[in-house]
Amino acid sequence: MRYASGKNALAICDRCSQTYPYLDLMADGANPALRVCQDCYDDPDPIIRNREPDPQALAHPRPDVRFDVPPPYVPLIPDPPGQFPPDEEGGQ
Ligand SMILES: [Zn+2]
Repeated sequence: MRYASGKNALAICDRCSQTYPYLDLMADGANPALRVCQDCYDDPDPIIRNREPDPQALAHPRPDVRFDVPPPYVPLIPDPPGQFPPDEEGGQ
């Protein structure tokens, strides 16, 4: 796609809302999505600019282990009789 040169166009600064010649606006250093004038230009944050991204990959990864469904609960010691309410059929 071709664009017009913009040599005769005007544009509005995204930060101060003043009108400037289109070619005088530039991408902001801190937020490149903004088109700003010379006075509104903000330098990129030196901390963010010089920061190395955090490492995320493991050096020696291992394959995933499948987690099976645990076996049903079986008490090792049976419940003592008479401590629980009798079942509905009249038993103890
Ligand atoms: Zn401005």
